Amino acid sequence: MPPNHSDYYFGAGPASLPPAVKQQICAAIDHVTPGVSILELSHRSETFANILNQARCLLRSLYAIPDNYHILFMQGGASSQFDAVPLNILGDARHASYLDTGLWSRKAARLAAKYTRIKIIAGLEQKNNKLRSIDAQHWRVDQAGAYFHITPNETVDGIALPEAVLSDTTAPVDVSAEAPVVADMTSCLLMRKVDFSRYGIVYAGAQKTLGIAGVTIVIVRDDLLHRAAEQIPHLYRYDLHVRENSIVNTAPVFACYVTGLMLEWVHKNGGIEAMRTQAKKRADLLYAAIDAHPLLQNNIDRASRSPINVVFNAERAGLIEKLLRNAQAAGLSGLAGHRLAGGVRASMYNGAPVAAVEKLAGLIAELT
Ligand code: PMP
Repeated sequence: MPPNHSDYYFGAGPASLPPAVKQQICAAIDHVTPGVSILELSHRSETFANILNQARCLLRSLYAIPDNYHILFMQGGASSQFDAVPLNILGDARHASYLDTGLWSRKAARLAAKYTRIKIIAGLEQKNNKLRSIDAQHWRVDQAGAYFHITPNETVDGIALPEAVLSDTTAPVDVSAEAPVVADMTSCLLMRKVDFSRYGIVYAGAQKTLGIAGVTIVIVRDDLLHRAAEQIPHLYRYDLHVRENSIVNTAPVFACYVTGLMLEWVHKNGGIEAMRTQAKKRADLLYAAIDAHPLLQNNIDRASRSPINVVFNAERAGLIEKLLRNAQAAGLSGLAGHRLAGGVRASMYNGAPVAAVEKLAGLIAELT
């Protein structure tokens, strides 16, 4: 894509891949070793073992993930972790706690409730009757539960935990406390600062920031591997994935390959710090345009706005439809809000061009 190209697909996931990554994929679909396409490559081949190892090493180095954490490549999407987490680490505990910040954290909590009592910690608060925020001053990690689950970026609600909670030990909420913190980072891994030593488990479906659907990255601390329930489905066992290097059965070779390419792309383009800077630039642009428009609203406190999934709506009927039509005509697609939320949702993952966001901001400014 030329540098000032401003057409863009803003879909929430599966999401846009950087053009350079798509080119590499096309070449690999032709062949990845002589006469063998990436679509045909055996999960038992040395080439695939190297692909997985390189991806692991890159992720470890991008985030300085300590040696006592294992990086697993699992299947079943992030949703399968809603079951896998309790099945692997509940042990004999009587309850686990979930921070309620939006649709995805609620779904995770609902599924976990099959296995134990779930304590919901209210993460959202209303400010000025209307603004929603999760400024982390009003909740603490529940130390008594088996684990404490958070969803740092709520993809549907467009609300996010302050980055300091993920990465800064001086933040008001100490997530490095005794009960292991489990984080669903499906829509923010590789986009925000994370200090992994503060987490027990981090998981992410790959189709937003890490490539395509089909593989889920699970980063799990070594001491949590020995609590698995007896009846846990074989393929959900973290300890088995560690033992078998994530090749328990036929692995999603293609999806793992694309994740490796995305990690290389992030590394070549400046690493996590550069991704954060770009994300802030895009988000600042778009929120400024929304805030300046008299008929559009984003009802989230500034400090809790997601820099990744930007949601907004309009009180006047027909205005959103008009914006979506104008956007489509201008080459901007994938902007319709989640089916449960309506309005607009612009998902801007790594590689989303600032030029496309400028074009969208321009359309908002002209919207009457
Ligand atoms: N968690 C979050 C935060 C998500 O955004 C999504 C998907 N939108 C999921 C979980 C579910 O992911 P999957 O479809 O891979 O199961």
